[in-house]
Amino acid sequence: MPEVNNPETVIELKRITKSFPTKNFERLVVLDDMSLNIKRGEVVCVIGPSGSGKSTMLRCINRLETLDSGEIRVLGEYVGYKEVNGSMELLSEKATAQQRQRLGMVFQQFNLFPHLTVLQNIIEAPTVVNGVHRKEATKVALELLAKVGLTSKADAYPGELSGGQQQRVAIARALAMNPEVMLFDEPTSALDPELVGEVLRVMTDLAKAGMTMIVVTHEMQFAREVADRVVIMDKAKIIEDGTPEEVFENPRSPRTREFLARVS
Ligand code: ADP
Ligand code: MG
Repeated sequence: MPEVNNPETVIELKRITKSFPTKNFERLVVLDDMSLNIKRGEVVCVIGPSGSGKSTMLRCINRLETLDSGEIRVLGEYVGYKEVNGSMELLSEKATAQQRQRLGMVFQQFNLFPHLTVLQNIIEAPTVVNGVHRKEATKVALELLAKVGLTSKADAYPGELSGGQQQRVAIARALAMNPEVMLFDEPTSALDPELVGEVLRVMTDLAKAGMTMIVVTHEMQFAREVADRVVIMDKAKIIEDGTPEEVFENPRSPRTREFLARVS
């Protein structure tokens, strides 16, 4: 686990811009000159209306999207590039995939392999991608399953689990690659309300253990109680960035107040 009190910057977004083509040869700007720094051990909740660019931001950090301009560094390394003699060279697919491994990603849809058991889902990437011995990977997987409270489901198939259980497996699967940072994109949005709590509890434990986390969420209570910082995005920009108290009790922007009134 990373050290909680080391203020090292783990993720740095520097003036990033991202747009998508639309009809009429125009471009839709989805991230507009956005900057954000995240330190080791920080839990940052990102909140904002649908379409404000939250998922795209996470996808850029993972280089599932390329930037129009600006730069992203994860643990000091440029995402998708390396510096060679003062100039930037594009990384190969393989090197990019290696960079991506430092980040664990959990999506709204759990995306477990339906034909593999819970245990097999968790050991798949460590054994196939990283060449970890099956026995060692299984040991780690069982520890992670205990952490997410699903030891008894090791041999079950995803289809036999509730949505909340599947999402906890998805978290364990991401953790099995031993990531330095966890990125969550609305991990509880697809769940029935009564299953949200069990997933948030696992995420709270992870936060308390010192994991660096970016969590896109609409769960205001979680943001209030667990986040070190709350970032509010609106129309491709960060309009608020502060402690939960600052952002929820004393927002700077009228747009934040409007948004919070709608969702709280
Ligand atoms: P959020 O996660 O905050 O709801 P997104 O980052 O998913 O927002 O999307 C921001 C905007 O970018 C939306 O208008 C969306 O339709 C658009 N968008 C996202 N991905 C693409 C894409 N691959 N091509 C075109 N438009 C996209
Ligand atoms: Mg989204």
